[in-house]
Amino acid sequence: MLNLVLFGPPGAGKGTQSHNLIEEYNLVHLSTGDILRNEITNGTKLGLEAKNLMDAGILVPDEVVIGMISNKLDSHKNAPGFIFDGFPRTVAQAEALNGLLKSKGSEISSMIALEVDNQELLNRLLLRGQKSGRPDDANLEIIARRIEEYNGKTAVVADYYKKQDKFCRIDGMGNIDEIFLSIKKVISDL
Ligand code: ADP
Repeated sequence: MLNLVLFGPPGAGKGTQSHNLIEEYNLVHLSTGDILRNEITNGTKLGLEAKNLMDAGILVPDEVVIGMISNKLDSHKNAPGFIFDGFPRTVAQAEALNGLLKSKGSEISSMIALEVDNQELLNRLLLRGQKSGRPDDANLEIIARRIEEYNGKTAVVADYYKKQDKFCRIDGMGNIDEIFLSIKKVISDL
């Protein structure tokens, strides 16, 4: 199986590159942000609980997202592989994912980390907010909170995969096609 963690701060381009990867490698895309927004749209209990946290730019509890991912892995038993987008976002989530994949005789192939400078991240998120209407892209205070959450809880997840020699850094500043070419090169070298 090809199991990729697409990693990077909010606005790094994880969603965009996930879509390219799905087309090229026929992988199942698991974005915890998308799954949560879907729960909100459907007005589920989980969605109602997650909404306030998400709108404030705060991570939802680990148990919630780990449970969601576990269900999705079970419902795609014959997938050739997965792209994890926006997950794991804490070390506890990374450990849980490791256990879930192990119980299926599988593992993460690589973490692909998109690197983008802070000013560019802010520009992209504000621009996206104008089009998408996402409440968490709407103002600088919430965006700053998300980046704070990233720096405080998520950035360390890179170390988890570095220790396993699975960490690959990609320059996320160029144009979309060039970045995708760099990602494909990493995958072909795996
Ligand atoms: P972005 O990467 O652009 O910030 P996402 O769509 O991945 O956006 O996530 C939006 C929000 O959903 C996060 O700010 C957080 O509240 C919640 N969320 C998504 N994934 C996770 C996760 N793995 N753990 C905790 N909260 C999450």
